Amino acid sequence: MDKLDVIIIGAGASGLMCAAMAAYRGRNVLVLDHANKPGKKILMSGGGRCNFTNMDAAPKHFLSDNPHFCISALRRYTPQDFVDLVDRHGLDYVEKAPGQLFCEHSAKDLLAILMTELEWSGAQVKLNTRILNVEYQDDITVVTTNQGVFSCESLVIATGGLSIPTMGATGFGYEIAKQVGHDVLPTRASLVPITVQPERKEQLAALSGIACDVRASANEAQFEEPMLFTHRGVSGPAILQITNFWQPGEALQIHIAPDLSLEALNQARDQQPKKTLENYLANELPKRLVDLIKAEFPWLDQKFAQVSNEQIEQLFQYLSHFDVAPNGTEGYRTAEVTLGGVNTKEVSSKTFESQKQKGLYFIGEVLDVTGWLGGYNFQWAWSSGFAAGQYV
Ligand code: FAD
Repeated sequence: MDKLDVIIIGAGASGLMCAAMAAYRGRNVLVLDHANKPGKKILMSGGGRCNFTNMDAAPKHFLSDNPHFCISALRRYTPQDFVDLVDRHGLDYVEKAPGQLFCEHSAKDLLAILMTELEWSGAQVKLNTRILNVEYQDDITVVTTNQGVFSCESLVIATGGLSIPTMGATGFGYEIAKQVGHDVLPTRASLVPITVQPERKEQLAALSGIACDVRASANEAQFEEPMLFTHRGVSGPAILQITNFWQPGEALQIHIAPDLSLEALNQARDQQPKKTLENYLANELPKRLVDLIKAEFPWLDQKFAQVSNEQIEQLFQYLSHFDVAPNGTEGYRTAEVTLGGVNTKEVSSKTFESQKQKGLYFIGEVLDVTGWLGGYNFQWAWSSGFAAGQYV
């Protein structure tokens, strides 16, 4: 049996960060993963360029049943700390949207940095390793795998959530948690495209590929960002963001031209009475979307001066309550994250050690902490991995 100080299950973002931090402290660290490569989600993230942090990351950008849990780790390892790390390695990166940092070239560059840190720290990684059993003995934990039996003082679960099973996601972390009596909060796919009801599908599929700015609101959350029509429904940042707050069966409000308030429409009528509504809308929205609206309101070909207050009001109601007829989501197959997970009320926010099992730690997405879209989820992986790395 190989004896280690620390075993980390999961060579993803949080596991790699934790491994390097613990090994720099002189701990003998082994990372185990059943995948054939480390950091697969890092490689596929941000369209292959990994949105690796958000400079504005703050506790308000994270959802959890225990909202205070993330505060300490986010404070101890900030976005600037991660930027300092990648700067030391000379990573080229860009701020694509305010606060959102992406690799300039490829997510491979970021993964290479993490693997270099691992090498420098002395932490080892064993891939293609299936975990067959975990057993807690007096002061050690014994991990049996298809590649041998290992013992450790600290076992860190960094197996992430359920999204993208084809990339190696499993519910392993939840099972390990439940085995020692942890509460696991209900999980659900999030930051995920929304599918539409069959009756509306064909009509909206005709818009597939076009994007427009929208205001998406649900359960008191609101995002003003682009929405993309797909052949299955709707996606794009506004939709992905709102799925952290909305779930099937609940009200979802989409305003497809958020700048077009009732006042703005009335004002436009006063200022441009000779313009047709169709032409006016074509300045604000993609042509194919205007065609869809015109199928509903044939009088859009009239000049502003000819349309009544009632018609303006009807148009406004249509735009501000655009019916995407949400049916469900595309689920874990395409979701970026998993909401819910190991209840953080039973995990130390300082060390990330389980309060149910000595020597057992949970970090990253397996915990009930989920960030908004925009680099927040990786920041959580870095911050939680760093924090646990100081104690394991
Ligand atoms: P992961 O990175 O998922 O790592 C978990 C590891 O555990 C994997 O290597 C897996 O193989 C391993 N594992 C799982 N089960 C087992 C098992 N039974 N035995 C052994 N090993 C196991 N977040 C952002 O902040 N910015 C982005 O741009 C972004 N883009 C994304 C794009 C996509 C398509 C997806 C799916 C996610 C994206 N995310 C993004 C979210 C981000 O990838 C995750 O929040 C983050 O990777 C979570 O880190 P983690 O270490 O907890 O888990």
